[in-house]
Amino acid sequence: LYIDHPLAAGQPVALGGPQAHYLSGVMRLGQGAEIEIFNGRDGAWSARIDAANKRGGTLTALAQVAPQRDPPDLWLLFAPIKKARTDFIVEKAAELGAARILPVQTEFTNAERVRQDRLQAHAVEAAEQCGGTFVPPVDDLQPLSRLLDGWSAGRRILWADEAMAGPAATLAGLAPGPWAILIGPEGGFSDSERARLAAMDGVTRISLGPRILRADTAAVAALTLWQSMLGD
Ligand code: SAM
Repeated sequence: LYIDHPLAAGQPVALGGPQAHYLSGVMRLGQGAEIEIFNGRDGAWSARIDAANKRGGTLTALAQVAPQRDPPDLWLLFAPIKKARTDFIVEKAAELGAARILPVQTEFTNAERVRQDRLQAHAVEAAEQCGGTFVPPVDDLQPLSRLLDGWSAGRRILWADEAMAGPAATLAGLAPGPWAILIGPEGGFSDSERARLAAMDGVTRISLGPRILRADTAAVAALTLWQSMLGD
């Protein structure tokens, strides 16, 4: 269970209504039961339920049972698409070990805004379900052009470009370090975006195979490809 609270032995932790209801109503756990909790920073902890009902409850943090484990320094930049598919991208990015998730508005992106709080909640749920101790922060929507204006050359970009469709890239030979994967929207990238990215230092443009993938499939494929070569 994810707890947005510092953790220390003997520390009481207040539970919100939905979390307390999940423990008591869904998991059928009562006073005295032990569960595992994490806050994204301090590893996994055992905790005892002191009280839980549908209005709220409290836990006591007992002891750290696993150290904090952060993913490699990989960001995912993606253009949001339809709501359910955007939710899917965030969920899969958290499962596949993205360290930060940045929705970006490109020239052909239809979405004007994202529900950042809802996307962040999906990242928390994904971390809970895969037993991780890290939750990637999800940024609010920002224009890709503005993000690239302030881009630091120290973070390389793996740019999946549908115009490259052909034999899938191998990432052999790419150096480890800070990276960002960039996935475009349903309509792909514009000519001016292509020109700008192609002129930037530290950008590797890749194919994900001979077929044009949907953006959500492309995000999963690119994350998996990167993790297979450069992940841990
Ligand atoms: N019309 C489809 C849709 O509605 O989802 C296609 C979307 S495709 C243009 C979305 C993004 O996925 C592209 O901008 C690119 O980042 C990535 N992509 C899809 N197929 C790819 C391929 N074969 N090679 C590299 N990138 C690809």
